Amino acid sequence: MGSRGTTVAAVAAVLVLSALPARQALSGNAGRRGAMAWRSHGTDNASMVSTLKANGVVRSPIVETSMRAVDRANFVDSDASSAYADSPQPIGHGQTISAPHMHAHMLEKLAPCLFPGAKVLDVGSGSGYLSAVIASAIFGSDTSDGTGLAAGIEVYNELATRSKRAIANVSEQHRQWLESGNIVIEASDGWSGRPCDAPYDAIHVGAAASKVPDALVEQLKPNGRLVIPVGQQGAGQELLVLDKQADGTMVPRERMGVMFVPLSHTNGKTL
Ligand code: SAH
Repeated sequence: MGSRGTTVAAVAAVLVLSALPARQALSGNAGRRGAMAWRSHGTDNASMVSTLKANGVVRSPIVETSMRAVDRANFVDSDASSAYADSPQPIGHGQTISAPHMHAHMLEKLAPCLFPGAKVLDVGSGSGYLSAVIASAIFGSDTSDGTGLAAGIEVYNELATRSKRAIANVSEQHRQWLESGNIVIEASDGWSGRPCDAPYDAIHVGAAASKVPDALVEQLKPNGRLVIPVGQQGAGQELLVLDKQADGTMVPRERMGVMFVPLSHTNGKTL
């Protein structure tokens, strides 16, 4: 990701700035290859997930199973060798699908909230990959009764449309989840969140916000988790993992240096 400079969407963790309870082992940026980031390539989806696991990026069974259920090639225009490379790939409009290690890292942070019946919002859903994996995690288990929601919102109309097509192609189940409304992808401005189905058990944001959006805090359940990169582009962004307490306060669990494209300000408009 880093080699694409500021045009890339979600650039890997570049440095552990400060870790609240748990220090992350992810590191590496354009010029430096880290211990876990950037090297989890595969030749197919299964080997990509196996490598992420061997490198300690995938740790939870739920993350492993759901990443195995969603072939990343469905979301990447380029050839198969690129689809499973541990780097972002272009998806149009100057945006990219994030690298596999970043998706895996985000999913590990979301894992406690990915239970049957959960409602999860993916802001800046881009390619739709993460929304599809989140759906597999929520609905894919034997114990799922089909309730719950994986909702993605994306500011580019074309990307939202393209991502729905990609999700429908993942599996017959994914196509049905889209039809049944268990998966929803909408073009809208992430700063406003998606109030119609709030509150959510977890909210993931795939682009860096200049500050934590109030709407997303409001739309999170008590005991819910917000995973969000915050900061200006090129100036010390941090990935924050924030847990909402019963009294509504947000407690930071972790912070880690990252580089993402901005969560654009569009005044509620789509592009
Ligand atoms: N997880 C996605 C990340 C895509 S990059 C993936 O791997 O495919 C970040 C995405 O956020 C881009 O698609 C970009 O268009 C979108 N985005 C930027 N600003 C936004 C906003 N205000 N509202 C919704 N989406 C936004």
